[in-house]
Parts: sequence; C-alpha cells; structure tokens
Amino acid sequence: MARITRPVWAIRCLVSGCKTLFEVAMLEEGKQQEVICPSCGEHYVYPPKQEDEQQ
Ligand SMILES: [Zn+2]
Repeated sequence: MARITRPVWAIRCLVSGCKTLFEVAMLEEGKQQEVICPSCGEHYVYPPKQEDEQQ
C-alpha cells in the first residue's frame, strides 16, 4: 500500500451528485493552485482566498 509522503489537504467536491473527496498538495502560505476534481472535472482554486468570502 502506497503511502503519501508529502503533506496534502483533502478537499471535497461541491458538485451535488459528486461529492468526491480528493487530495491536493499543500503549498507555501499565500500560494494557490488550480485543482480539478478527478471524478467530474470541476475546477477549484485552493486554498480559497479569504477576500472571496466577503463578496
Ligand atoms: Zn466532482
């Protein structure tokens, strides 16, 4: 059984009917990455920016 050796976050797809849990690599603070749900192909930017939540 393979072990994950680098730190990762697990995020859950928000698409109803998908809800797949998948892992993304942890980045340096302040950096973001585009991640794609392996199940449905939905794009996410992770981690989300704080500013986006205030709109
Ligand atoms: Zn999905």
